[in-house]
This record gives sequence, C-alpha cells and structure tokens, in this order.
Amino acid sequence: MPDNEQRCAICGRDAHATSIGDRDLVQCARCGNFEIVRSAKAAFDPFRSDADHAELLPYLSAYTRQASERHQNVVLDTRNWKHFALAHKETSLSRKATKVLELIAARSKPGSPVRFDPKIDPPLVDAASPSELAFLLEHLGELGYLRQNEGWVYTLKAKGWEKLEAATTKGGIPGKCFVAMSFHNSLKGAYENGIYLAVKEDCNMEPVRIDRVHHNEKICDKIIAEIRTCQFLVADCTPQRAGVYFEAGFAMGLGRQVIWTCRDDDFKNVHFDTRQYNHIVWQSPEDLRAKLTDRIRATIPRGD
Ligand SMILES: [Zn+2]
Repeated sequence: MPDNEQRCAICGRDAHATSIGDRDLVQCARCGNFEIVRSAKAAFDPFRSDADHAELLPYLSAYTRQASERHQNVVLDTRNWKHFALAHKETSLSRKATKVLELIAARSKPGSPVRFDPKIDPPLVDAASPSELAFLLEHLGELGYLRQNEGWVYTLKAKGWEKLEAATTKGGIPGKCFVAMSFHNSLKGAYENGIYLAVKEDCNMEPVRIDRVHHNEKICDKIIAEIRTCQFLVADCTPQRAGVYFEAGFAMGLGRQVIWTCRDDDFKNVHFDTRQYNHIVWQSPEDLRAKLTDRIRATIPRGD
C-alpha cells in the first residue's frame, strides 16, 4: 500500500486503512472509524489548498468521531460529507461547553482528574482545534465548574457535577435530543439524511442515538442515562420495535416531550395506545427532515 494510503482522508494524520470493495475502512485516533467511497476521497483531500474546504474538515472529523463513539457505521461519499460537516459547524458555545462537562463526567468519578489529549479530543466536543478546546476549558474554569491541575489535566469541581445533575433532574440538557428508532439497514437513510440533519443542521441541536445492537439488544444503563439528560426525544416507530416504545414511555414519565414519527407504509401498524399522539408520517428521508425540522421549531423551546 502506498504511503498516502496510511493517512486519514479527513485530518491527514497517520491512520490505519483497509480496502473493502470500492471503499476504504479508515481507523483514525482523531476521526474515529469510518468508511469512505474511494472515488470520493479527492472531494475532501485534506491537502487541497482551498480555504473554505479546509475550514469544514475539522467538523467532518467531529461527525465521524462522535458517530464512531456511538458505534455507528458511517460511509462518506461525495454528496453527504459536506452536510455532515455543516451539521457540526454551528454548535453554540454553551452547547460545546456542556459537551466538555459531559466528556469529563464520562471519563472520571467525582474527585478524580481527567487528562485531555489536544491532538485527538477536540472533535468530541465540536471544537475545531486544540486552542478552541483550551478556550472552552478555560471558560468552564472561569465559571467555577472545573479546575486545571496541570497542562491538560483537569478535575470537575462539585459545582460542575451539580450542573450536570441539575440538567438530569430538571428539563434535561437544552438542545439534547435522544433518538429512539430501529437500527435496521433500511432506516439508515431516515436517520442520517432525515432525523440527524433536521436536529443537528437545521435546528442546531444535539442528536444522540445509542446502538442497541452493540449493547446486546437490552435496555442498558447507558440508554437510560442518555434519556435522563435529554431535553426531548424523537421516536420513530417504523417497524414497531418494543424498545422504541419503552424509551419513549420512559422519557414521557420524566416529563420530556416526545415527537412521534413513522414511515407511511407502516403507520397502520402503530400501537393502539400511542396512535392518539400526533405522528409525523413520512415518505422519504428528505420529507422526514423537512417535517421534523418544522415540528421541532414549533414545539421545542430553545434553551440557550
Ligand atoms: Zn483523521
């Protein structure tokens, strides 16, 4: 394999690449694991000298890395990559700061320190560079949520833990949207080109999806924890999975708003108990995206 094949197609760092048919599977410490259609590689060549283009790549890293952390299988092609990058470009400062707090909480226990790696951690919080991550950490320090021990080592203070706890018990973290849906391949487009882009790109909020397949099909603690901290939930009923109803019911019990959606050919099968709710009935991912965007803008209050 030539040398350049061992560079990540997005960030240009050393990475592991394996050819599978017309795609490369890339494993990059910064951008996570993702697949890329080989003919699309030239479309976002990190060594291209095009300023607008280069500006988007850190946000594409944010998309692939966060999807990879959720064990979501991402395939980049010439059409979709820009949408995915733009979806992570307009994240507000307060949402990025919340993502930093959540990251520390996920990596530590109260009182224990966390070391950040400025080379690979920025994409986890939609930060474009190490200096932006440093800026967010400094901001959270000024607010009294964390303390810098030395260099990139930080400890979340009691006030920081309380801030996250308060979000859990009150209305959830503003803008955080849990997505409950089937992971069947036939619904991949409905998520990536429908729900994901509606929530992230059109409404500038934070979609969270946990792949139950990677958690032995059981409603795991991770799912419960993510639902507790969400502001609202999108439940796509297609094709009537029990887990989706469970997650939506749990969210409603917590007082969270649930937006119900269903593909039109399956709407007749929606469970009797929940059919009374006003469903978004959709035909294509694009249709779902447009209708869901309208519904979120009309019904979900903006927290920040
Ligand atoms: Zn990379």
